[in-house]
Amino acid sequence: MQLDTATGWCQGIRHCPSPNFNKRPDGEVSLLVIHNISLPPGCYGTGKVQQFFQNDLPASEHPFFETICELQVSAHFLIERDGAITQFVSCLDRAWHAGVSRFGEREGCNDFSIGIELEGSDFEPFSDAQYAALIPLCQLLQQAYPAITPERICGHSDIAPGRKTDPGPAFDWQRLRMAGVSSTNEFR
Ligand SMILES: [Zn+2]
Repeated sequence: MQLDTATGWCQGIRHCPSPNFNKRPDGEVSLLVIHNISLPPGCYGTGKVQQFFQNDLPASEHPFFETICELQVSAHFLIERDGAITQFVSCLDRAWHAGVSRFGEREGCNDFSIGIELEGSDFEPFSDAQYAALIPLCQLLQQAYPAITPERICGHSDIAPGRKTDPGPAFDWQRLRMAGVSSTNEFR
């Protein structure tokens, strides 16, 4: 896996381009946000997250899909349960993953962050394969964007408290700390 910094796309992983992005207002990339998602919730390997990020979720297939199918969202990366990584948006561009959010004094975290979705749910442990993919991906992004210091890797729940709960209590921050990727930040 390599990151082509000229294009913002990682080579050696699957690409599934999403239309849900726009330009970063000042090009800054200085925060990494970890999420979880599964569609339908708690079901894995369905391919529906990819369809959701491409505005192609079949609303009629599940009652939950009807409630979200009009949303236009994306993340830069998805890591499935088997550790497969898919990229949806160039790191140079602003993906739509954080929503109303604040890191420290700054609001609108999409402007300056990269979003990584782990296929999962708040209370179910993530797989070893997911950590084995996440840690080198974080390292790759930190090499390309040194402003993403260990203190600036956070969860969605950290930047949207009261509104978002992911990646949830089952996410093992200690694994990231042990790898030197993440450190204690203002949130934990
Ligand atoms: Zn999230």
